[in-house]
Amino acid sequence: MLKVTILGCGASGGVPLLKYGWGQCDPNNPKNRRTRSSIMIETEKTKLLVDMSPDLRQQLLRFGSSQVDGVFVTHEHYDHTNGINELRPVYFGTGKSLQIYAKDYVMRSIQKMFYYVFEDSGRDLYKPYVEANVVEDEFVIGDISGICFEQNHGYLKSTGLRIGDFAYTTDVVSFEKDTFEKLRGLDTWIVGCLSRDKKPTHANLDTVLQWVCELKPRQTYLTHMSVDLDHDSLRANLPQNIFPAYDGLQVTI
Ligand SMILES: [Zn+2]
Repeated sequence: MLKVTILGCGASGGVPLLKYGWGQCDPNNPKNRRTRSSIMIETEKTKLLVDMSPDLRQQLLRFGSSQVDGVFVTHEHYDHTNGINELRPVYFGTGKSLQIYAKDYVMRSIQKMFYYVFEDSGRDLYKPYVEANVVEDEFVIGDISGICFEQNHGYLKSTGLRIGDFAYTTDVVSFEKDTFEKLRGLDTWIVGCLSRDKKPTHANLDTVLQWVCELKPRQTYLTHMSVDLDHDSLRANLPQNIFPAYDGLQVTI
């Protein structure tokens, strides 16, 4: 059994957005306050974090714990990686390294951006605490195993994950045909849905609805949502098995 906690379901700027505020979102609904996207996938033995939101410290304090057995990184954008720095205290004094998993095209970027957490500077105070694990099409992290696949994120590639009948595919604007086929027969799908308008880098609501119509997962949760998407308006208008996520939502598969 998997327990998935949506630590954050907001787009890169979060909701409310600096300068622009709440947009179409009702500021009085706490479910509209969205931190940047991360999820925790858990079995009894393993806690696998997917992405390292810049809000990760607050997310783990609020919904999680300090146990992180591995981190899968979907892509290098700052809203999915900047929390790498927040994990440092988790590894203080443990003698163990944080295990990061990503496709080679993602890992190269992470190692460039955050070189100081991978390299030994020779100073005792700041030892490297991160170990890179490049994954191909399948991964095993603790007792969690799954497949991962390339996604089109506009100007770069991101990675989607499927673990049994659960899939997490954020920051995707389109799928290649063979990748799309990997998403058939899902029980629970968490999928990135940025806005109502079409965007070059993210699926919008119409696109996600078309995908769901084709793939027919039992239930679908929208994540990575901007100020364009109000929680209650979505609840009132979406088909019965499609839900907007909110920070702290837990799903058991
Ligand atoms: Zn992105």
